[in-house]
Amino acid sequence: MSSKDWIEKDYYAALGVPKTAGADDIKKAYRKLARESHPDHNPGDPKAEERFKTVSEAYAVLGDEAKRREYDEMRSLFGSGAFRRNARAGGQPGGVPFDVSDLFGGAPGGGDRRFGGAGFQDLFSSIFSGGGGGGGAPRGPARGRDVETEVSLDFDDAVRGVTLPLTLRAPGVCDTCHGNGAKPGTQPRTCPVCHGAGVNTRNQGSFSFSEPCRNCQGVGTVVEEKCPECQGTGGVTKTRTMNVRFPAGVADGQRIRLAGRGEPGERGGPAGDLFVQVKVRPDELFGRSGDDLTLTVPITFAEAVLGIDLRVPTLDGAVTLRVPPGTPSGRILRARGKGVVRRDGQAGDLLVTLDVVVPATVSEQARAALETFAGQTPPAAREHLDARVRRVG
Ligand SMILES: [Zn+2]
Ligand SMILES: [Zn+2]
Repeated sequence: MSSKDWIEKDYYAALGVPKTAGADDIKKAYRKLARESHPDHNPGDPKAEERFKTVSEAYAVLGDEAKRREYDEMRSLFGSGAFRRNARAGGQPGGVPFDVSDLFGGAPGGGDRRFGGAGFQDLFSSIFSGGGGGGGAPRGPARGRDVETEVSLDFDDAVRGVTLPLTLRAPGVCDTCHGNGAKPGTQPRTCPVCHGAGVNTRNQGSFSFSEPCRNCQGVGTVVEEKCPECQGTGGVTKTRTMNVRFPAGVADGQRIRLAGRGEPGERGGPAGDLFVQVKVRPDELFGRSGDDLTLTVPITFAEAVLGIDLRVPTLDGAVTLRVPPGTPSGRILRARGKGVVRRDGQAGDLLVTLDVVVPATVSEQARAALETFAGQTPPAAREHLDARVRRVG
């Protein structure tokens, strides 16, 4: 006999006794019904046989004090708020109404094995394994939604960190009723339909079903005189301005979570979170690679050959970098500690890429000097390429 049988079947009805019946009354009722429906007295009558089975099954539970207690407990739990609380403990944002009928995989009332869904068993066992632990606490009003917004930071601000006022147009707690939705001077009162449980139990034959209370939308309280400001919802659209601190080194594409700064919960529920998507405007000089800043510096061929002390800008000043004689194009020089300073005080570097530029035109004198230079220098090392060129013709 499974737990689903216990919910499905009304053993009291099967024996025709009230739930408050004493052990003697139950025994008496059972004996009478068993005698009447016994197969020996009703040979070849399948209906009687079925009744006999039902009566025996009912007595096997109700006739046993411990089993009866368990059965009562299970049926009362199934039809009570425990069912809803358990379902909502999963933390569905926005408190999606929980529809028990979904679990049954079809229209109720068949009386046969329609409960076959695994979800039903899972849910059921979780109700009982919960054992008064975390799952049992009332959930209260729904939590507010998370809010997503986007912010563009200047490059320097992202590197150094900045506090910016952030303006959001979003639902906020109604100041007139402080979020409970009731007209000032009145209070929300316990829902008369569900008595505060937020769910109602409906009996259909030997079945009972729980569904979110329609009268209070599962909240458990109702507002009789609505707050004129928010029409009883507890929330109004507000323009909120808050100062948000962006830490030094915040990067383009980063998402910052501000706990509890999202939408307020309905009727005093906890607020959601605010997520800020950060965009960093590019700098005209510097780029970023993690905690390093990058900078490209053009130099002439002569500077690359002869070497030079380069004065290059940093974010908040300048630094001198030694370009040694014979430095190839594309060489990266590193200015330590001139990058992004993180919160822990560690700083990245400034990475300077040298870019040897070739003049598009040169003066007569420069050309003459270059030709002299060319006569004085060995040709570039291209022998390894020449061999391949010869082979292909
Ligand atoms: Zn209000
Ligand atoms: Zn209600």
